[in-house]
Amino acid sequence: MKRNLTELTSHIYDLLIVGGGIYGACIAWEASLRGLSVALVEKADFGAATSANSLKIIHGGLRYLQNADFKRMRESIRERTTLMRIAPHLIHPLPVLIPTYGHGMKGKEALRLAMGINDIISCDRNQIKDPQKHIPNGWVISQQECQQLLPGIPYQGLTGGAIFHDAQVYNSERLTISFLHSAVKKGANIANYVQATGFLQIGNRISGITAQDSLSGNQFEIRARMVVNTSGPWINRVLDLVEESRERSQVALARAMNLVIRRPLSPDYAVGISNRNSNSATNKGNRLLFMAPWRGHTLIGTDYTIWDGKLDEFQISESEIQGFLTEINQAYPSAKLTRDDVSFVHGGLLPRIGVDPKNGEPILAKHYQICEHRSAAGLISVVGVKYTTARDVAQKVVDRVFQSWGQKPPQSLSSVTPIHGGEIDNFAEFLQNAIAKKPHELSEGNIHSLVYNHGSAYPQVLKYLNNQFESDKAPVDKYSMLKAEVLHALREEMAQKLSDVIFRRTELGSVGYPGDEVLQVCAKTIATELGWSYTKIQQELQEVNKIFRSTSPMHIY
Ligand SMILES: Cc1cc2nc3c(=O)[nH]c(=O)nc-3n(C[C@H](O)[C@H](O)[C@H](O)COP(=O)(O)OP(=O)(O)OC[C@H]3O[C@@H](n4cnc5c(N)ncnc54)[C@H](O)[C@@H]3O)c2cc1C
Repeated sequence: MKRNLTELTSHIYDLLIVGGGIYGACIAWEASLRGLSVALVEKADFGAATSANSLKIIHGGLRYLQNADFKRMRESIRERTTLMRIAPHLIHPLPVLIPTYGHGMKGKEALRLAMGINDIISCDRNQIKDPQKHIPNGWVISQQECQQLLPGIPYQGLTGGAIFHDAQVYNSERLTISFLHSAVKKGANIANYVQATGFLQIGNRISGITAQDSLSGNQFEIRARMVVNTSGPWINRVLDLVEESRERSQVALARAMNLVIRRPLSPDYAVGISNRNSNSATNKGNRLLFMAPWRGHTLIGTDYTIWDGKLDEFQISESEIQGFLTEINQAYPSAKLTRDDVSFVHGGLLPRIGVDPKNGEPILAKHYQICEHRSAAGLISVVGVKYTTARDVAQKVVDRVFQSWGQKPPQSLSSVTPIHGGEIDNFAEFLQNAIAKKPHELSEGNIHSLVYNHGSAYPQVLKYLNNQFESDKAPVDKYSMLKAEVLHALREEMAQKLSDVIFRRTELGSVGYPGDEVLQVCAKTIATELGWSYTKIQQELQEVNKIFRSTSPMHIY
């Protein structure tokens, strides 16, 4: 992945994508794989906005059963299997426990029935060779078993629990990068820190964009036969750049928040726990709070509120964090969470379709949208609602692109083609082999992390470990692996800033502050590579520290 802005301006691309979150990344891969010439620009870093804030669950859609939305369930189940097939290093099955109360709709009997229906609807879910990716049937457990698995669970009315499997993405930021890597290998030209500032229009036909390099301030034009707008929460703002589009309806937004908790509250299972005990305190509707084990920590989500503010003022307030902690503590009192337990806050904006009149809660959009614009031929906007289904939506978008040219879309192979790092038939064996042939200076933990993050591409990172020893005759130290990852991020993955390395190329910042020393090592390695001054190093360190301290982690520029 090389950032080449001259190249961006010297072609007429088939497709130009504005926005490098998971939706833009999947469309870039899908279109490149089907033979289109593709460019993509991202105004910050790839995957730095909504896509970096996900709860990391690759949903099988069990909850859609409540509304008998079998179509959406099938879509999610299929995508869960697909992602495990094409990115086996990043997507892994995750057992989920739901305590059951009483004998009604959320009781044990109803959940037993739901497990059975889910198993039938997902009967083809194990059509995947790797046994590590197989998802067992769901089952129910007794009240005592539930208490053993989740000590301290509110007892009153507890009748047992249901256990089923979903999947978790080990590193959602790297999944986005892996889709982009794959697109680049097929010839796509992508650039981070390039903002679309306007559209090139001939009459009502879009023929490209005007863009600005946020790093140098340079402005230029990029031409394409078709432009796809995947700018997530910025969709309205990007559409405002189109002449004569001011009359269209705006996509309304909801603020979503997850908390990263320093402690493993339930190390072996994710838990879906009802907030039934907490309604009076927080005035939230009855909903399921989801606690997922995450690298020795716990991810808890998701809290939603209406967002009518300006994007530039996106913020999660301390009182909102406190309110969510209160709700969690009432749903699961033995957690006894305090503000000090929170090591990081995830926040992002999602499309909503209304407001629940009963409690003022946002009603989130359930379905993606692919919109062609009457006043701007050659422009398609995509509104995604789930990380899980981005690849599937990308397939549909690219079909639509071919159809709009009056062509029959070529067959899509993205559901069966491993993405960058995904060339692994059997994950457990692959990991064992990698550990068995590890360089002596690395620990098993180093290899584990490399394989989970980079999959079959991990030797490309190791190459930089060897470079260090050969070229600099540098002694092996405890940071050699870290420096190799930083160099790999800079030279192979277009990292431009310290924050790109800490939050999206490595897993260093995923659960909270990694410590002064680690940040210093990374900053100095980058400084040597890019020729940063002392002042620049301090600025970059300050920026990263601000993100860790801040409650508005979504990058808004
Ligand atoms: C707290 C939270 C938890 C979630 N949990 C889950 C979950 O567990 N599972 C799941 O499946 N989904 C989950 N989601 C939903 C999922 O994260 C989103 O649906 C998905 O990430 C949206 O991706 P996107 O590419 O549309 O948007 P984004 O990731 O926001 O990408 C849009 C990009 O466009 C760029 N951009 C904007 N304007 C311009 C411009 N003018 N020029 C260039 N670039 C521009 C932005 O910088 C941004 O990077 C969650 C979301 C949140 C917020």
